Amino acid sequence: MNAYDNALRQLEKAAKLMDLDPEVVARLSAPEKIVMASLPVRMDDGHLEVFQGYRVQYNSARGPYKGGIRFHPQVDLDEVKALAFWMSIKTAVVDIPMGGGKGGVVVDPKSLSKTELERLSRAWVRAFRQVIGPEKDVPAPDVYTTPQIMAWMADEFSTLEGKPSIGVVTGKPLDYGGSKGRGAATATGGFYVFMKLIEDTDIKPNKTKVAIQGFGNAGSIMAELLDNEKFIIVALADSKAHIYNDKGLDLEKVFAHKESTGSLAGFSGAKEISKEEFLALDVDVLVPAALENQITKDNAEDVKAKFVVELANGPLTPEADEILYKKGVVVIPDVLANAGGVTVSYFEWLQNISNNYWTEEEVDKELREKMIPAWEAIYQMSKDKKVDFRTASFMVALHRIAKAIQAKV
Ligand code: GLU
Repeated sequence: MNAYDNALRQLEKAAKLMDLDPEVVARLSAPEKIVMASLPVRMDDGHLEVFQGYRVQYNSARGPYKGGIRFHPQVDLDEVKALAFWMSIKTAVVDIPMGGGKGGVVVDPKSLSKTELERLSRAWVRAFRQVIGPEKDVPAPDVYTTPQIMAWMADEFSTLEGKPSIGVVTGKPLDYGGSKGRGAATATGGFYVFMKLIEDTDIKPNKTKVAIQGFGNAGSIMAELLDNEKFIIVALADSKAHIYNDKGLDLEKVFAHKESTGSLAGFSGAKEISKEEFLALDVDVLVPAALENQITKDNAEDVKAKFVVELANGPLTPEADEILYKKGVVVIPDVLANAGGVTVSYFEWLQNISNNYWTEEEVDKELREKMIPAWEAIYQMSKDKKVDFRTASFMVALHRIAKAIQAKV
């Protein structure tokens, strides 16, 4: 289960159905550039650790590379390539003038002190400074990278450039060039698409059970948004525990517990279940908001949800996709469901380079104006070509990327 193999299979499937120009397929079958670097970091106790860092610049046909940096022990080159490829599709899905890239560091950031994390973040920028920049490649947060880390990175880059150059990364804190609405954007974008999808159905939120895997930036905010609409959040999961209460979880208490203990484990208002049980729960909506390859050919048959909203990148393998499609499960794919994050990142970048900041209302209006047409184009494509939403998303995006590539030949 290699994420990059999965990504290329998704490309192949859509390319075949739309008869995509083989030259475009060739261009998209490998990254434009891969940069790897050792990141030496002095630890608090005086010893030196060397971390492996990556930046994959996948495709820039539509604009500067765009995509997050992941700090996680399981990061490897193929994962970063897959994530960078998906960013190329994602930016085209929401039709923002940017390409796709991704970065990573093989590290367990939870084992680092704050000062070690700062030195690692700054070391990442020093190692990749030649290839990033507001007009070249604009990183952002991803799994276990935060606004604070983006602030250190923007500061390091500005110092190296000898001038403020904060448009080099997005997802920064509000006090240092961040955009209103960026923190909630990933979940908000997915929420808008999901609400649009169920608009004409007879689904009643207070009769609809939801399970959300992942309680980071995307998953926890999605829980809040759905809870506000009176959906019943029956199960949540983080890296430590899967918790379940068929009557619904008291979200306020869950947040308080997570805040005080650092995890969902031991939450008194629910029972703990296994990951297998979690993914097979009898819920209406399943929101994978953690890592790749969660639903595979081995457990897709067990999924009982009618809707899967992919806030994570790559949580379903291509085999799982096919099984779920045959079962009639509706999947809102990652490249659409979580595209609100990069969309507001693009708005942040626009605000940085024009030095002109938007109100919360402006950001929200612009986000809707990207998400809803993206959804409509994909919905139409899926109807016209009788394909699932992932394939339709790829077809919409690939048309746009192909036009940009072909305009130059
Ligand atoms: N890491 C996020 C993603 O996978 C955000 C990327 C960005 O804002 O550039 O979409």
